[in-house]
Amino acid sequence: MNEKKAITNGQRTTCVVCETKREKGIYLLNHFICETCEEKLVNTDTDDENYPTYVERLRTIRNTLFTYH
Ligand SMILES: [Zn+2]
Repeated sequence: MNEKKAITNGQRTTCVVCETKREKGIYLLNHFICETCEEKLVNTDTDDENYPTYVERLRTIRNTLFTYH
């Protein structure tokens, strides 16, 4: 994916994963993911207890893409 963009303007955006307003993060298909959650997503093993939660959030993002148009 090439949708990653660094946020450097200091504006706080609500992260779709932890639902907390953060300054730094990435945009994944127009959805903001804070750098903390991005790091967790990258580093979380599939057997981690939190992994299903992240997968579910990402699935939600994917599903919203089909309702845009
Ligand atoms: Zn987050």
